[in-house]
Amino acid sequence: DRTTCWLLGDQLNPDLDALDDADDVLMIEAHGFADRKPYHAHKLTLVFSAMRHFRDRLRDRGLDVTYVRAESFGEGLDEFFAERERRAADRDGGDGPQLRLMRPASHGAGERLRDLVAERGGTLELVDNELFWTTPADWREWAGGEETDIGPDGAAERTYRQENWYRHVRRETGVLMDDGDPVGGEWNYDDANQETPPDEWEPPARPTFEPDDLTRETHAWVRERFDTWGNDSLDGFAWPVTRAEAREALDRFVREGLPAFGRYQDAMVGGEPFLSHSLLSPAINLGLLDPREPVRAVERAYAERGVEPGEYDPAEHGGGAAATSLDEFGGGGAGGDGAAADEAPAPVPLNAVEGFIRQVIGWREFMRHVYREAMPELADANRLSQERELPPAYWDGETDMECLSEAVEHVREFGYAHHIERLMVLSNFALVYGADPAELNEWFHLGFVDAYHWVTTPNVVAMGSFGTDVLSSKPYASSGSYVNRMSDHCADCPYAVSRTTGEGACPFNALYWDFLKENEETLRGTGRMGLMYSHVDGKDDAEWAEIRERADRVRERARDGEL
Ligand code: FAD
Repeated sequence: DRTTCWLLGDQLNPDLDALDDADDVLMIEAHGFADRKPYHAHKLTLVFSAMRHFRDRLRDRGLDVTYVRAESFGEGLDEFFAERERRAADRDGGDGPQLRLMRPASHGAGERLRDLVAERGGTLELVDNELFWTTPADWREWAGGEETDIGPDGAAERTYRQENWYRHVRRETGVLMDDGDPVGGEWNYDDANQETPPDEWEPPARPTFEPDDLTRETHAWVRERFDTWGNDSLDGFAWPVTRAEAREALDRFVREGLPAFGRYQDAMVGGEPFLSHSLLSPAINLGLLDPREPVRAVERAYAERGVEPGEYDPAEHGGGAAATSLDEFGGGGAGGDGAAADEAPAPVPLNAVEGFIRQVIGWREFMRHVYREAMPELADANRLSQERELPPAYWDGETDMECLSEAVEHVREFGYAHHIERLMVLSNFALVYGADPAELNEWFHLGFVDAYHWVTTPNVVAMGSFGTDVLSSKPYASSGSYVNRMSDHCADCPYAVSRTTGEGACPFNALYWDFLKENEETLRGTGRMGLMYSHVDGKDDAEWAEIRERADRVRERARDGEL
């Protein structure tokens, strides 16, 4: 019996076990989904170009790849089945095709696709998705008990905490462990990861991968075929579209970005969309990189170039690529190659290493499992009953608020904004403004090159919008003071971060206090909000009247596109 390995557009890895004993490969480029929303042109270009490159690589390896372009998976399967019938007729009949698929990350998709195949007389076997490090069985063993339901009020029956999961995964995988203890003695070095860079520090150059003919052709087709949003030229499109490019992006990050990754991880700097972030999520989420690879590479870098938390200060060394000789730190070896070939790469402090590894084996794996557990209710969870439409600034970037306009511009230009812009500007503003979490989720989903339903939904609905308490006991809401502490935006902003009320006051401030007051019933009792509510209690009626007036005004202006 022949087995066809069906690979989805986010499963583009040639080293999968699922491919090993397959006789041939099926890939379906389904286009209809992108008619329903105006996706970022770079996102569509990235996904379709990566699929087409992957098809060509597999064929170069001698694999028999059926590549179908269709409106839907159903139509794609019709074409595949028709082709199989023709082949079977040549060979004198046989049963319907047998397909094998790694379980899709999207909720319910595996079952839907199995039905589509069965309706056409074939069989579809679903196997574990190798492109996550941990399996549903691993999660169940850790979480125990039943799956969680989210009630109509957004309250989860059971809740999960990332930090506990993360420690469990470290123990189970042995990553960054030393004889059963965390390397360096602590599980988490985030205390060292909350600095902003001085003016003279320059982040490493963004690794850029020049679009080749296939990417250009794909992009031209995307522009013609779809209504897209954001930058629709190829300028600024520099994402890896092949596994080789993704590996190179990883090497570059480990050599150049990692040394300052931790320390400046939470910082926002005007005109610097990328800082020392890895920019690897698009490649990891497409399957071009297996999540084990960045983790192992960062562990290796620590073995070769590691120093104590905080010991290496990127600001003292001018930043950028490979600015420092290891000799200063008594290290050795680990020469770089490529751009900075003649200089040894900078040391990597443990806080950067641990911080990066936590994002991948902690947060990324955690979000995937929380999504599995909490769907389908998660997608519509709305614990705070927030229903306002997203302000037009999210679409056109037009606002005088420096932080918001900068973050939206990054998304419009690159389909990317880094984590703190996503959490503390884009979703924080929507949260205190009162936007509908499902609409915000859709905005993230169509606008970001690394966005898939499994990853935006827990991040946007649960973490960013507090649509449910399934993964955190308090909302990520803050006033303008957070942005002021972590960025240089407020100095360039016409709004005054020091003021809460009256014309010209930072919109974040009044919205924040008004949000706390409005949602007092739900939030006061949630455990970690005590300090915030002691400030709420300290304000008198006159103050509240001014706050309410300013918040109303800000909401009105935002709604009218005049903020
Ligand atoms: P780095 O800062 O270099 O982090 C390293 C890696 O850790 C990332 O590449 C990613 O694979 C992983 N990671 C870190 N945090 C998370 C997380 N919370 N969830 C999942 N993976 C994580 N991530 C996406 O991949 N796609 C999304 O659509 C997405 N939407 C988000 C929306 C909101 C509101 C928030 C708060 C976070 C979102 N994230 C999303 C998580 C995180 O912001 C991105 O993974 C990260 O910014 C990607 O950029 P990077 O590769 O430079 O990350």
